[in-house]
Amino acid sequence: MPAERLSDSDAPPESAAAGIMPGRVAAVVVAGGRGTRAAASAGDAPKQYRTIGGRAVIAETIARLLRHPAIVRVQPVIHADDDAAFEAMVAPHLRLGRPVHGGATRQDSVRFGLEALAGDPPDFVLVHDAVRPFVSVAVIDRVLAALATSDGAIAALPVTDTVKRADGARNITETIPRERLWTAQTPQGFRYPALLAAHRKVAEAGRTDLTDDAAVAEWAGLTVTLVEGDAANVKLTTAADLTRADARLTAAALADLPDVRVGQGYDVHAFGPGTAVILGGISIPHDGGLDGHSDADVGLHALTDAILGAIADGDIGAHFPPSDPQWKGVDSAVFLAAAVERVRARGGGVAHLDLTFVCEAPKIGPHREAMRARIAAICGLPVDRVAVKATTSERLGFTGRREGIAALATATVRLPLDRPEGA
Ligand code: MG
Repeated sequence: MPAERLSDSDAPPESAAAGIMPGRVAAVVVAGGRGTRAAASAGDAPKQYRTIGGRAVIAETIARLLRHPAIVRVQPVIHADDDAAFEAMVAPHLRLGRPVHGGATRQDSVRFGLEALAGDPPDFVLVHDAVRPFVSVAVIDRVLAALATSDGAIAALPVTDTVKRADGARNITETIPRERLWTAQTPQGFRYPALLAAHRKVAEAGRTDLTDDAAVAEWAGLTVTLVEGDAANVKLTTAADLTRADARLTAAALADLPDVRVGQGYDVHAFGPGTAVILGGISIPHDGGLDGHSDADVGLHALTDAILGAIADGDIGAHFPPSDPQWKGVDSAVFLAAAVERVRARGGGVAHLDLTFVCEAPKIGPHREAMRARIAAICGLPVDRVAVKATTSERLGFTGRREGIAALATATVRLPLDRPEGA
């Protein structure tokens, strides 16, 4: 798979359609679903708000569309329960109109999105799934180019597997010739007035079961043509899809950062009174607490120093002095996130974190995965780029005597080569 750079600041990619589109193009991004199949656990955010490559799936998808030079406007359609998620994870990062709320079916949601464009109607509209962040300029170009001669055009892939129909007991009843079969992707593009009219007409007729816009257009008698889609333009459906997409985007973003730095961090906190310790961003019940000005999370403190070390930017005490009352009792995630942000501000990225605790107790192993997940979330990293380990000091020294906990960390950070003076 070719490397891809996905920052908003990229130069607009070459587009064949940009120069020839005889009109304005808007995109309706459909994000009204609840996506329960991708939830790793109940209570997880809907998949369009899960992060891949450090930002929400829907933000990645919209950014891709906005990078296409012919697309002048994106209209998101979101679930009414997702206002806060959209406001926090998408709105601050992209220049967008207000999202509209979706309906009970995908068909309703698209119609509401189309109606929201009616005040300033575009000539053409692309309808695109929020959970297809790998849409390419080439696919968009092919859809737009086909609209010169057709009411509608959709990205699709020819079926290459043999297709079977089965009965309820999974016994094959038919082998279906695949020669003229295609699977539909998005974007699906249309002349805007024609698609809006088709959606209104089908809604008036009481049909609500059409699962894509081509079906709405077909129902209304419009001509819809197929253009070649892209196997990489996958719909992120399962938790495994999200994990793969996250790893792919993160690796792609790091590939353009050749200046590899390694930093180390070390921290110690002494045990004191309490019933729990905060380690690696999570609270662990214990027969004592850890003394400290903040929440005394030695793990996150060591990681923060490792990242600051990698970019030669002082240490945790310089940025967050213990003498400053605003850091009293604070969640140390604040320090770690700020260190990551200092890397991002220099155009870089954190590639890997490795954290080791030295203590006799509590046992770290049972909490390792929770710590990795929390650290990954704080840093906007895939979990497979975060390691958490533990060892004892064989009852020697202050950790061996259970007087405190030590933590060591290394951070691998990648920066661009074109550093300004003084770096
Ligand atoms: Mg500390």
